[in-house]
Amino acid sequence: MSGNEARLRAISAVINYQPISEPLNFADTPTGELFGSNVFNTAVMQQRLPKGVYKSLMRTIKQGAALDLSTADAVANGMKDWAISKGATHYAHVFYPLTGRTAEKHDSFLSPTGGNSAIAEFSGAQLIQGEPDGSSFPTGGLRPTFEARGYTAWDITSPAYILENANGTILCIPTAFVSWNGEALGKKTPMLRSMKALNKQTQRILTLFGDDDGALVTTSAGAEQEYFLIDQNFYYARPDLLNAGRTLFGAPSPKGQEFDDHYFGAIPERVLACMLEVEHELFKLGIPIKTRHNEVAPGQYEMAPIHEDANVATDHQQLTMTMLARMATKYGMVCLTHEKPFAGVNGSGKHINFSFGNATQGNLLEPGDTPQDNARFLIFCAAVIRAANKYAPLLRSVVASAGNDHRLGANEAPPAIISIFLGQQLTEVFEQIKAGGPKPAQSKDVLNIGVDTLPPLPLHSGDRNRTSPLAFTANRFEFRAVGSNQSIAGPLMVLNTIVAESLDYIATKLEANTGDFDLAVQAVLHEIMVEHGRIIFDGDGYADAWQEEAAKRGLPNFRTTVDALPASSDAEAIALYRKYEVMSEREVRSRLDVYWEQYIMAIKVEAKLIVEMATTMIYPTALRYQTELATAVASTRAVGLDADTTMLKNLLDEMNGLQESVSLLEKNLTHHDDDLAAEAKHMGRVVVPSMTAVRTRVDALEAIIADDLWPLPTYQEMMFIR
Ligand code: ADP
Ligand code: MG
Repeated sequence: MSGNEARLRAISAVINYQPISEPLNFADTPTGELFGSNVFNTAVMQQRLPKGVYKSLMRTIKQGAALDLSTADAVANGMKDWAISKGATHYAHVFYPLTGRTAEKHDSFLSPTGGNSAIAEFSGAQLIQGEPDGSSFPTGGLRPTFEARGYTAWDITSPAYILENANGTILCIPTAFVSWNGEALGKKTPMLRSMKALNKQTQRILTLFGDDDGALVTTSAGAEQEYFLIDQNFYYARPDLLNAGRTLFGAPSPKGQEFDDHYFGAIPERVLACMLEVEHELFKLGIPIKTRHNEVAPGQYEMAPIHEDANVATDHQQLTMTMLARMATKYGMVCLTHEKPFAGVNGSGKHINFSFGNATQGNLLEPGDTPQDNARFLIFCAAVIRAANKYAPLLRSVVASAGNDHRLGANEAPPAIISIFLGQQLTEVFEQIKAGGPKPAQSKDVLNIGVDTLPPLPLHSGDRNRTSPLAFTANRFEFRAVGSNQSIAGPLMVLNTIVAESLDYIATKLEANTGDFDLAVQAVLHEIMVEHGRIIFDGDGYADAWQEEAAKRGLPNFRTTVDALPASSDAEAIALYRKYEVMSEREVRSRLDVYWEQYIMAIKVEAKLIVEMATTMIYPTALRYQTELATAVASTRAVGLDADTTMLKNLLDEMNGLQESVSLLEKNLTHHDDDLAAEAKHMGRVVVPSMTAVRTRVDALEAIIADDLWPLPTYQEMMFIR
């Protein structure tokens, strides 16, 4: 399909868009009834499982104990009957490999019983453990293909659900992906382990403050997903979108996002229909989608659920991405979750809202009503401040990817420098803590925390800073540096672990204190502010002044994946993960290998696409236009008139430049280094700039070649025809 044809088809798709033949009717099934209707949740379990089995399962879920096989058998049986009543013929263990995607292996319930008959069977053993071959998933050497297969183990804390397809339904079981000796091959296991670490350390702090009922502390996460929707005709006409998820060429559209007329504007009809159906399906799966709106760039949108337990939120986030992709196709569009599908307009992120708490104390990042509660709140807040400063390189490394390099440190939200935004009031409080030393309390009922009392913090602070990578927003931290295409498991795992380490540090100090508790609390807050306060920055993160200021403060500034990734597995990171039993050294190192490989592959694919498209689409087009121009010049001269050859000369210049830049890129691509870090460095420092050089030529050609010849859908078309 040529660019022209794609354009005509997309225009006709938009103009002739008809609502689907059987429109959804939310009135048929009220949302309350719809919500969770395809989930094997506690209510369904209570109804379907024998009392004893249900109780023992609940105990297992709450205490994280192992499930015995007879209970598992009974649960499996109840689950199977429920699934079959919903039309399921198959079950699937769903797992989360290091690619960041979702993987699943389907098995039929059918078991032959001899003769020609078969019965539906699903045992406890099949429920709790699966054996997908999956030997092609990256494991960074944890599991050589010849050695053994990976196993999937049921994660009881994330509910099973039914996934519908027009031709049948599937029982899906969330699982952890592990090797035969229990090493984590996927994203889920380290995240669960980090939740455990955070619980353990938080309990120590709670005990110090007298809240020692031991109620399990969990992390809450709410992830805002940004994405683009474009007409699928454009997508299929662009090999770069199809294979790399982003445009590698494209001159800027005369109109970009400068009018801000798309942001929070009316959602286009077809897009809204698609969103409604996405949400309809996600509601069935018990995913509490709450907000939807247009984002800054034309064709860009955002959706966010209500926050949930981090493990469930992570699985739900993966499902959300899957559903967006599926439904977009149904409506003739494609969902782009790449961090930077289009140069020159905003890219996409995935802000993770992060807090932790338990059933009896609520959210521990919520400022309290009493001085006592506020002191506790400040301790938890200080733990995050210390964690972000001490482990800034680790936080930066967990959001490093080829895609996210186009956002972080590249003139986009947020900068590559990790800093914390606290808002004016909280900053003042912490500044006072830093300035003052510990002071004895004036009266018995005032817990002196270095300031007289904590001013009431407004819950919905209008005081927002959109440029900060880690912002405190009323009762949670929002980690904004996460890429739109990323699994949130990694960032959550790092946040949990580094905060656990800080809480450990603080608890150890406070536990050792034999004097006045309030003074000890003040002293530790003061000390943290003196040592780690440099991470707090409330100004404009985009300004050049911040780059200089951050350098003065000694804050690391890792602009690209090449610089940022090593910190994910340096000695400090390994020691941290080992100490809190989140990952073994082997697990940590294997991940670095996988992430280097992913980076290298991403750049290589893009570079090869650039060579291919430039050689087989762009240059031939330029050649055709050259012939047209040359013919025009010749025919003008043939009738004895002067011909202007400026256009032709410009064209030839750019064509020569294109050929040269493509040759250089091809040459740079022949380099190979067995050492992954060195290979990645070559990709980032040598190949990426030579890709940009080709792009500059192609974009210049796009600006001068006749529109009807241009082979690719343009930025203008892709972003505005919808
Ligand atoms: P904004 O765009 O203003 O940041 P959104 O409504 O788009 O806000 O998203 C906010 C996200 O933060 C939602 O997913 C919301 O549920 C989540 N959230 C709110 N409170 C908490 C909390 N205490 N812990 C974790 N996430 C939270
Ligand atoms: Mg938002």
